[in-house]
Amino acid sequence: MPTRRAAPALPSADFDALQAKALLAHQRLCAEYGAPFLFFSTKDPLSELISALLSHRTKNADSHRAYQQLRATYPTWEEVRDAPTLDVQRALSACTWPEQKAPRIQEVLREISRRCGDENLPPCSLDFLAERPIPEARAWLESISGVGPKTSAATLLFSCLRLPAMPVDSHHHRVAQRLGLIGPKVGEGPAHALLAALLPPDWTAQQVYDHHEALMYHGQKCCYFHNPACERCVMLDVCPHGQAVMSKKPQA
Ligand code: SF4
Repeated sequence: MPTRRAAPALPSADFDALQAKALLAHQRLCAEYGAPFLFFSTKDPLSELISALLSHRTKNADSHRAYQQLRATYPTWEEVRDAPTLDVQRALSACTWPEQKAPRIQEVLREISRRCGDENLPPCSLDFLAERPIPEARAWLESISGVGPKTSAATLLFSCLRLPAMPVDSHHHRVAQRLGLIGPKVGEGPAHALLAALLPPDWTAQQVYDHHEALMYHGQKCCYFHNPACERCVMLDVCPHGQAVMSKKPQA
């Protein structure tokens, strides 16, 4: 049975207050942006992993085009793994850094094949991760070089496995930081465990997905990196950053 709980490192009253704020953010932002949200992918977990690796520092539309081109050129992951790296690089030309992503993806595929027992066999399916507790499934993925917590969570949640592991992207991270759910110096990687610990452990994949999407949309549509629109934000009354921003604005 999947589990997903990290022990809080805070006094329990502080932790309870953070949990209450995370749930309030969930409630208000899900209402604001129209949850429940439709899952955008039905890929198997290995395909989702490769897709997530392609999406690093790349616009969604570009990484999607690169993924489609790669699949059209090489119908199986075994063919991607064994192709000349320059040809894979060419197939990835729609996304940023194809010269880095092509060898990295091939190495990830080789590593998965090695773990499945034979470097020359097709990379195994990652479907077996469905039977592992979530922390164990994430640790398995994150022990592959170049796979971090965002990619491991995306693989488990966005793929057809639909496991309740929460990715934290830059928008989600910025909103959580400004709301005070995590400290100002906590980076995106360490934020994963801290923010997941604030969610009820029995939440379904849909609830975890809605939470992530709602905070991400809020970062895209209101809590901008520059000039957040605090004056129209539904979280202003409980947001320390927003209140500091508003206190500096000239009164009308
Ligand atoms: S009040 Fe401002 S800083 Fe706080 S979450 Fe809303 S937009 Fe972001």
